[in-house]
Amino acid sequence: MGNFNKIAKTLPENVQLVAVSKTKSVEEIMPIYAAGQRVFGENKVQEICEKYEVMPKDIDWHLIGHLQTNKVKYIAPFVAMIHAVDSLKLLVEINKQATKNERIIPCLLQFHIADEQSKFGLSIGEATELLTNDSYKSLNNIQLVGVMGMATFTDDTVQIHKEFKTLKSLFEELKATHFSTDSNFKEISMGMSGDYEIAIEEGSTIVRIGSKIFGSR
Ligand SMILES: *Cc1c(COP(=O)(O)O)cnc(C)c1O
Repeated sequence: MGNFNKIAKTLPENVQLVAVSKTKSVEEIMPIYAAGQRVFGENKVQEICEKYEVMPKDIDWHLIGHLQTNKVKYIAPFVAMIHAVDSLKLLVEINKQATKNERIIPCLLQFHIADEQSKFGLSIGEATELLTNDSYKSLNNIQLVGVMGMATFTDDTVQIHKEFKTLKSLFEELKATHFSTDSNFKEISMGMSGDYEIAIEEGSTIVRIGSKIFGSR
């Protein structure tokens, strides 16, 4: 609670806070809602659906974790943003389910910027392939609003700076090449509890903060 107020107060005005509530109970989340937070992030489809059902309806629910194509249908009726789009196949399915729900779903392209092998995400080549594919151009019920990435889990702040700089320049490159006339393409989702201050220095517009608000998981 104390941490939430401190974080909320010190974030620059142009940086949006996604309070990452994964693994936390409704009872643990509600005080943060009561303190004014309306944007929450979850990384599992079942959990985001369960919380959406029982929690106040003015919450914006962001799916921040890896998303399987066969699960898109469960979140399409309500999800406010999907952070981790890493294939055209997934984007096509999101578009299909968004159409069924008569919605336009904002999405971010996830990029692989970390050292670790295990993290999901596109390369610039893969993103270019996606954005120049004819089937992407026919998707009317998704809106790509920016990029997302996770830095390596390390104490080496020089490396973290470098990885966030990489994501920022990927954003700038895509913006110039594919979205120069699209004012909706403006978000850079980067920064978690351990590195969000560095991310903000490097141009983040959305930080995803969990343990620093809710305590360790
Ligand atoms: C869990 C998670 C976060 C938040 O992590 P904290 O270190 O607890 O702030 C941010 N982004 C993604 C994709 C996550 O899965």
